[in-house]
Formats: sequence, C-alpha cells, structure tokens
Amino acid sequence: MNILIMGAPGSGKGTFSNRLKDEIKLDHISTGDLFRENISNDTELGREAKSYMDAGHLVPDDLVNRMVLDYLKNKMDPEADGYLLDGYPRTLAQAEAFEEATKGTDLAVDHILYLDVPHEVLSKRILGRRSCPQCGEIYNIYFKAPATENVCDKCGHELTYRSDDNAESLKTRLEDYDRLTQPVIDFYNDRGLVASISADRDFEPIWADIVKELKK
Ligand code: AMP
Repeated sequence: MNILIMGAPGSGKGTFSNRLKDEIKLDHISTGDLFRENISNDTELGREAKSYMDAGHLVPDDLVNRMVLDYLKNKMDPEADGYLLDGYPRTLAQAEAFEEATKGTDLAVDHILYLDVPHEVLSKRILGRRSCPQCGEIYNIYFKAPATENVCDKCGHELTYRSDDNAESLKTRLEDYDRLTQPVIDFYNDRGLVASISADRDFEPIWADIVKELKK
C-alpha cells in the first residue's frame, strides 16, 4: 500500500506517520527528515538545501524530485509493504513529475490522507513543537508536554526543536503552503484520491478516521 500524507506544517503528518509505521510495515519517507539528515552529514545535497530551509522556503523542485525518486527506486526497504511519503509532493510541478514517473508502476499512489487544520491552530502547534532526535517521538509544550521538561518520555534523550520552527520562517511556510501546496490537493482531488480528515481534534478520533480510510 502506497500512501501520501499531506497537510500544512504542524497538521500532524509526523505524529500520524509514526503511528502508521507502528501498524503497517511501510517505508516512511519524510522529505524534510531526508534533508535534515543530509544537512547534519554535511553532504552536497544538504548544503544546497540548507539556505532554503532556514529561510522557510521550499527547496527547488528538481532537487526534491531527484531525491525522492532515487530513494524509491534504489533505497527503499525491500521488506516494506509500500511507502508512506510525508511532505511530498508540495508543488504542482512535483505532483506532475511524480505522477509521470510512477504512473502504471508499483510505485503509484493508492491513498492520500489530507490532514485539514485551520491556520490559527497551526502556529501554536509549530512553535511548541519538540522532538526526540533519538527515537523520533514528537511532543508539544502546550498540548503534549513530556513528563520531565525537555526529556523524552520514551527513551530519556534530551529533546530538540527544529531551526526552522520560528515565527518568521513559519509565516513564509504557511504562505507557501497556501500558494503552492493547496493546488496539489486539488490536483489529487480531481483524480478522486484524497481523503480529507479533520485534524483539529484529539488523536484517537483522527486515527480512527485514518484507519477507516485505509480499509477502503
Ligand atoms: P518538513 O519537515 O516537511 O516541514 O520540511 C522542512 C523543510 O524542508 C521545508 O520547509 C522545505 O524547506 C524542505 N522541504 C521538505 N519537503 C519538501 C518538498 N517536497 N519540496 C520542497 N521543499 C521541501
């Protein structure tokens, strides 16, 4: 089963991807995580992506398309029952390139989960976001604080926050989302692939809707 999980920054893509991975043996590919990994390993790709990311801008389409297709074609976990792509495609040009490259192959998309959250809720979610660099658990100082401040409940590692989770970069990311990524939802809606899930709710009802959708 191949799944795209879509939604604005802070809509819960990372949180629900973590849960989906626990339930189904999917290869979870977050383009943001792939870039951050390249930045911490100081690769050429990472150096190229960093300036865009720190300013809250999208990385150029060509760079992202190449990275995703290279991963899916050459690096995917052979044991996985499909992929869970998180944070891609984010522009119409990416969606078109992705469709062109995967159409009629076993890399074609089966389900698109769109986590729909009003903008005013997103800011608080993003600016309060903390995550564990060791086990990937995600927290929020306003909604889901760890038992001990700044320490992961699961593995005890110190929590970190992302350098692009600041007010200035957030403004650009949300504007870019409306301008560039919303048309991608429309593109897939026209193909009847999108399950729109109201994601300004507690975890469990959202999760129940996701499970229902994937059983279709
Ligand atoms: P994320 O972790 O998904 O919020 O992504 C963090 C940053 O990585 C974004 O603000 C972009 O700069 C870059 N990025 C991730 N995915 C994409 C994509 N599909 N297209 C362009 N830039 C991306």
